[in-house]
Amino acid sequence: MLILEVAVPRPLHERLDYLPPADGTLDNVVGRRIRVPLGKSKTVGVALGVKEGSNIPSQRLRQAEEWVDNEPLLDAELVKTLTWASQYYRYPIGEVLSSALPGVLRRGGKVQRGEVWWRLDEQLLGDATAVRRAPRQAELRERLLAAGGAARYADLVTECAAWQRAGRELERRGLLHRERRRTSNMHEQPPASSAPPTLLDAQLQAVEQINAARGFQVFLLDGVTGSGKTEVYIRAAEQAINNGRQVLFLMPEIGLAPQLLRRVKERLGDSVAVLHSDLPDVERAQAWLAARDADVAVVLGTRSAVFAPLPRAGLIIVDEEHDPALTQQDGFRYSARDLAVLRARYLGVPIVLGSATPSLESLNNVASGRYRQLALPQRTGSAKSPSIQVIDIRSRPLKGGLSAPLQQALGRHLEAGQQVMLFLNRRGYAPVLTCHACGWIAECQRCDARLTVHRRAGNMRCHHCGASRPLPSVCPGCGAGDLLPLGPGTERLEEALAELFPQYNLLRIDRDTTRRRGELEARLAAAHRGDAQLLIGTQMLAKGHHLPGLTLVAVVDVDQGLFGTDFRATERLAQLVVQVAGRAGRGDNPGEVLLQTRHPEHPLLQTLLESGYGAFAAEHLNERRAAGLPPFASLALLRAEAVDANAPYVFLEAAADWGASLTRRQQYGVELLGPVPAPMERREGRYRAQLMLRSESRYMLQAFLGDWAIKLAGLNGARKVRWSLDVDPVDT
Ligand code: ADP
Ligand code: ZN
Ligand code: ZN
Repeated sequence: MLILEVAVPRPLHERLDYLPPADGTLDNVVGRRIRVPLGKSKTVGVALGVKEGSNIPSQRLRQAEEWVDNEPLLDAELVKTLTWASQYYRYPIGEVLSSALPGVLRRGGKVQRGEVWWRLDEQLLGDATAVRRAPRQAELRERLLAAGGAARYADLVTECAAWQRAGRELERRGLLHRERRRTSNMHEQPPASSAPPTLLDAQLQAVEQINAARGFQVFLLDGVTGSGKTEVYIRAAEQAINNGRQVLFLMPEIGLAPQLLRRVKERLGDSVAVLHSDLPDVERAQAWLAARDADVAVVLGTRSAVFAPLPRAGLIIVDEEHDPALTQQDGFRYSARDLAVLRARYLGVPIVLGSATPSLESLNNVASGRYRQLALPQRTGSAKSPSIQVIDIRSRPLKGGLSAPLQQALGRHLEAGQQVMLFLNRRGYAPVLTCHACGWIAECQRCDARLTVHRRAGNMRCHHCGASRPLPSVCPGCGAGDLLPLGPGTERLEEALAELFPQYNLLRIDRDTTRRRGELEARLAAAHRGDAQLLIGTQMLAKGHHLPGLTLVAVVDVDQGLFGTDFRATERLAQLVVQVAGRAGRGDNPGEVLLQTRHPEHPLLQTLLESGYGAFAAEHLNERRAAGLPPFASLALLRAEAVDANAPYVFLEAAADWGASLTRRQQYGVELLGPVPAPMERREGRYRAQLMLRSESRYMLQAFLGDWAIKLAGLNGARKVRWSLDVDPVDT
């Protein structure tokens, strides 16, 4: 009796056995979607195999209902990759498979082929009167005119989310038409090279090495911001496309990279599909299917695009490979960068990891010879690397967080007609509200955290659980009226700057000012046009923008990153400093970077400033080696939380005991550390604790997890907590 093995989207580590459906053959079943009964309902699963007989008594076996696909939706390589990921990250295979699929396909839907385009009505072609009063609609019209009157819907809403609404309005008025076009076949479409620059020597060498790779090889493209990494990606991609191959291009955030998107499309032609989670469902499914049918040569997307099918793969690129946004941090936790490397191996193609501040993991892989380094040591053109200086703010008076030397520097650059950017990773007005009389501090009732003052909104908010309370007018502790907001947030910075430099325009970019859809893009565009001279932002502003008029970047509070609890905090800070510094002086004027700190002697800052990121990384790698931390050890983290403070410990101790008994039986060489309280013990009213697993050998840790993890759900106390297992955690 032949039995189908099906992965269903439920938290089950096993595949389920079904009798085959009445229709269809059993050839080529792996990767096909199938509708099956499950409990009292039905679901769509993915067939993963056929076998002879089952351990389940035949009267209890149920029959699958019908095939959704006539041929596999997922090819063999993708099934292999996803199966590996499920095992490595200890996440149920059915849920891994369904998170790899766009929603429509996951639910068993079929998608009409071809993509939606928007085409301008005749009436709008020569005459803009109809959109005179609507700037967004006018923008969209301009964009469509530039593209010859029509463009792909998915591209438009990726470039500017606000165009979605503007376009719908135009459609309603009959000024814009929606039509379906079949994707241009990748083989008919040679790249539309628009006057590429002559490569510098270092770029040329990098491109040649990538193009000379036969089969799997990992390159680390290590080049400062503005050194021409993107140009190298594009050249290598061109060669792959010319050979009739597909390119997967991953980046941490697409909303922040409209310029990159446009550049890639200009150079690589229309055969580019974008794939990210902000896209409407159907567009995602279409992009995914276009990749699967090799209708597109380039798939460009964020971390989940690492699961795009690539039947004709030729090259994989991961930009900003150090960025934590490439790691999914809840549900199915995975590193898109690491999975991209795995796929390159399975697909037998080269992969380029690029960054101005490579992760310590990748640098260590270069040192051990697993990755090949391609260095771009210089900025292109005349732009020089900016000078970085520290401002010691101990015993200096601050105004809204700004020291006098920083204020003077701001004035100098502004008077010269240039742009300045201030970076502070803390939104709101002030991170602390305290009473001058009794020392009372505003705290969240549900988290171990202080409330942030949001003055304009008139409230205090917890940035961890979202709780909000009105600002008190007198101290709840002693009744005095002497409440004091302490420390700067972006809102306070804005206030201070408006007072100091009233003659210049100011633009704040943080989560509070960019909540509305399209607002982030609009503000970035305004920054580009030079509409504002003073830019203030959180880390949102640190990435990927080329602002030619920007000459001064200031990090208002470096110390935030120097003393984090996470062992990766220093690496993150160094990356941040180098990345924000990369924003300054990309045009003709030299850049200047100022860092405010109370710890100017900190060895990390010293090394970073005197010898650069490479030297910092080398030094820090030595520290990690001495401490037995990644990349010299592998970690996994078992987290648990519950309303009852004791419950996480009951479960984690059971897990630790079970682990200890396993290691006694067999020499895994895995250390169990804890349980200990999580860095923020109470959050949203729940107590949190964690158990760390450490091993010098990734292989042994995996072997251990294989035996250990499957029994966790059955342990004492497991049902009284919410728990999750994080393999290679980026946040400890
Ligand atoms: P990165 O990705 O490292 O930040 P880019 O590839 O974006 O660097 O290059 C920075 C700028 O220099 C871009 O405006 C790009 O067009 C330009 N550029 C890149 N390579 C060259 C080159 N060989 N000659 C002249 N300009 C170049
Ligand atoms: Zn008080
Ligand atoms: Zn809270």
